[in-house]
This record gives sequence, structure tokens and C-alpha cells, in this order.
Amino acid sequence: MNLILMGLPGAGKGTQAEKINEKYNIPHISTGDMFRAAIKEGTDLGKKAKEYMDQGALVPDEVTTGIVRERLMKDDCKDGFLLDGFPRTIAQAESLEKILSELNETIDFVLHVDVPAENLVERLSGRRICPTCGTAYHVKFNPPKEEGICDKDGSALIQRDDDKPETVKNRLAVNLEQMQPLLDFYENKGYLARVNGDQDIEIVFQEVQEILDNKA
Ligand SMILES: [Zn+2]
Repeated sequence: MNLILMGLPGAGKGTQAEKINEKYNIPHISTGDMFRAAIKEGTDLGKKAKEYMDQGALVPDEVTTGIVRERLMKDDCKDGFLLDGFPRTIAQAESLEKILSELNETIDFVLHVDVPAENLVERLSGRRICPTCGTAYHVKFNPPKEEGICDKDGSALIQRDDDKPETVKNRLAVNLEQMQPLLDFYENKGYLARVNGDQDIEIVFQEVQEILDNKA
């Protein structure tokens, strides 16, 4: 089963990816992991990617899609894969179609873990970090025993600039703008399956399973 996972930051993609990986035994391929592996293995494409990253530059599409291609040809992808963080652009989506058709494969589902951006602001801006030990809390979903204080060492918790509501809103808007054309692209191809991500993790996963199991 060949899957692509899409969703805004904070929508719970990572959690669903873990659960899908556990139940269906297909590798969870995140872009970050894929790049790190290619660089570690020292493949030609890995070396190229590293050059760009070391300069703080964006890795060009042809390098990225080359790395994806190498990854999808590995043995553990024989029964399927779960792509996370790729494709990010229509050009990459089109390259992926080409790669898959060369491999005689096709996409089964593009799962969109859908949570309205305004609901994500609360999730994402509730994060608090302990400056001493790095433990992460959430004011609503994972609060410390005493408000504003680290359970482990009593330090005053801080909110990172990245987690401030205005920054979060901007980040979500940028992400949504980038993701929407891809959702439309896959909707038109008939691959898109929407999951309501704005509910309990287990219920979200039930919806995911209903979609994936109906395929079999
Ligand atoms: Zn601490």
C-alpha cells in the first residue's frame, strides 16, 4: 500500500504515521530521515544534498526526487511506503508520479489529516519548554503539576518565540498556502482521503483504518 500523508504542523501526522507503520508494517519515510540516511550512506545524491544544506540553501527538486527514488527502490518498500513531508510542490508530485510509474507502482491514498488552522493555533502556541532540562509541556494537553514550573527541576517554563501565537499563525498560513495546491492536485486524481484530525488520536486512527482497510 503506497501512501502519502499530508497535514499542517500540529495536526498529528507523526502520531498517525507511527500507528500506520505499526499496524500495516510499511516504512514511514519522512523527508528529514531520508536526507539524513542518504548523507550518512554517502550516496552521490546524499553528497549533493549536503553541499546545499551546508550552505543553508534549498536542495533543488532534482536532487530531492533522486533521493526519494533511491529510497523507494529499497527492499523495505516492496509492500508499500508512507511518505511524509514529500511531495511539497506540484513539480515534486509530478516527479513522484514518474518515479512510481517507472517502478510499476501507483499511489493508493493521500491521507489528509485535516485540522482547521485556527484550532491548531491553540495546540501549537500552548507549548512551554523548560530552559534547564528541555522538557516540553503543553498548557492544556500536558501541563506541569504546578503552572509554569518544570516538574523535574523547578525551573520557570518559557514559551519559545516560534510558539508565540502570531508566529504560529504565520507559519500555518504559509504551510496551508503550500499544501492547498497539492490537495487539489490529488483530489483531481481521486487519491485524496480526508480524515478529521480534530478529535481523539484513537478515533482519528479508526478513520484511517476504515479508509485503508476498505482498499483491501
Ligand atoms: Zn526542567
